[in-house]
Amino acid sequence: MKEEQGSGGCCGSQDCDGHDGQEKRLGWHEYFMSVAHLISRRATCTRGHIGAVIVRDHNILSTGYNGAPSGLPHCNETNCRIYRSTHPDGTIEENCVNTIHAEINAIAQAAKHGVSIKDADIYITASPCIHCLKVLINVGIKTIYYDKPYKIEHIDELLRLSGVRLVNVHVEEC
Ligand SMILES: [Zn+2]
Ligand SMILES: [Zn+2]
Repeated sequence: MKEEQGSGGCCGSQDCDGHDGQEKRLGWHEYFMSVAHLISRRATCTRGHIGAVIVRDHNILSTGYNGAPSGLPHCNETNCRIYRSTHPDGTIEENCVNTIHAEINAIAQAAKHGVSIKDADIYITASPCIHCLKVLINVGIKTIYYDKPYKIEHIDELLRLSGVRLVNVHVEEC
């Protein structure tokens, strides 16, 4: 796996309240990952809140969070509808049938508004599932920055074969 450690660092509680000493200026990785965390607070699937930001040349092209398609009932209004599937390695995974994942919603938003995301990067609060990774490869994403690992062992081979970079950027949520 082409996993690297980014220079996201931590905004730290002292910097967050801005009362103690000089305020630290956010680096780009922290900035975009913090935006992804903020966006995740719009998520509606009760199984987890994920945010995604597609970026090129330090410019936000599109954003997404996980939830039901537009106009359909959200999981926080009804209930998650869980289905189980078995990965080829034998592990059982559970997913919510109502929900579109954050990174796919960010891609959908770009498509809807005619924004090219070729050769862009994506910041996601969790590493992509194998299904989303396949789509990220095909829309031309170069580097995936993620905060928390999610079923990360399942995407090992696909990362290696595709050449897409996976980089960890951790920020403390304020
Ligand atoms: Zn759900
Ligand atoms: Zn996914």
